[in-house]
Amino acid sequence: MSFIPFLSFEKMHQSIKSEIHSAFDKVYDSYWYILGKNVEEFEKNYAQYSNVNYCVGVGNGLDAIIIALKTLNIGKGDSVIVPSNTYIATWLAVSYVGAEIIPVEPNPKTYNIDPTKIESAIQSNTKAIIPVHLYGQICEMDKIMAIAQKYNLFVIEDNAQAQGTYFKGKISGSWGHINATSFYPGKNLGALGDAGAITTNDEHLAQKAKTIRNYGSQKKYYNEVKGINSRLDELQAAFLKVKLKYLDEWNKERNQIAQWYYDYLNEIDEIILPTIHPDATSNYHLFVIRTLKRNELQEYLHQHQIGTLIHYPVPPHLQEAYKELGYKKGSFPIAEEIADTCLSLPMYPGISKENVEYIAQTIKNFFK
Ligand SMILES: *Cc1c(COP(=O)(O)O)cnc(C)c1O
Repeated sequence: MSFIPFLSFEKMHQSIKSEIHSAFDKVYDSYWYILGKNVEEFEKNYAQYSNVNYCVGVGNGLDAIIIALKTLNIGKGDSVIVPSNTYIATWLAVSYVGAEIIPVEPNPKTYNIDPTKIESAIQSNTKAIIPVHLYGQICEMDKIMAIAQKYNLFVIEDNAQAQGTYFKGKISGSWGHINATSFYPGKNLGALGDAGAITTNDEHLAQKAKTIRNYGSQKKYYNEVKGINSRLDELQAAFLKVKLKYLDEWNKERNQIAQWYYDYLNEIDEIILPTIHPDATSNYHLFVIRTLKRNELQEYLHQHQIGTLIHYPVPPHLQEAYKELGYKKGSFPIAEEIADTCLSLPMYPGISKENVEYIAQTIKNFFK
């Protein structure tokens, strides 16, 4: 058995190689590399895919959240509700605009922010909630939107991991007032470098986000606001246009792979398999299992030629970068327990059923 990597682009990228190469040639020969027709077309296509009126392509997922916050005028003196267990980008975006972070614990089954814990966390200066659709499962968006409406808060979906998922039939990236996603190569819709986007139904917010991503300028050399430089470039947009056509197919394949894992692993009492809320779908960006013997299992799998990763080993509140907030071990016990016990198994279009079976069998052997 040769090494089974945690993630491989091989099957996906080989299957679209000629399309990607011709997309590259077209951009190369157009002599136009920033904010041109590829960005416009991709924005149109991704907006349509996300069932919203507007998409604004930006440089990466972190910038997408920062620009969304800036577009809503959220900054110093404001506070924003974020999940206690997320990739640190969600927290960093709030810090970057100068707002205060209010972490809220996840539902221990779905790992997504627990809507029943949001209301009591809201403060008088709270302006927004950033639900993160973690591991590819969309949050309970109906409840989150209802709370936001009751307290007059904005919702910014962090949709970096859950492109193409639905809650009660409504797609991710279309629930919040303005939403952020990432096309980091490893995401389900990944560019061949850094890229990201904002989605919204609000024309005014879309226009403002567009201005902020481009130096605060709509008309060249006239600057209305202090913007940043975070543009999606023509090449990445051209590649993303190709890959977007396959996103649903690839998400479907990931669901099939997840089903194999569920079938093979469900008899092992020592591990917890992912739970999907009955009204939600997942694109299985990650297939995360939990076990008290996580470190030993990871080591054992590695010895048996299986790559795994931990998403994420240290929750944001315990990171060195956030020591000024004064949180300790025990501050957010659910996030900490997930960090201590989670393990992400290989998951990508192209992994074979035989490989999944071998991974499952190896896990069974470990617990025997
Ligand atoms: C990847 C990711 C981001 C950041 O995206 P980048 O493109 O890497 O900046 C933000 N939030 C979540 C949940 C992510 O997984």
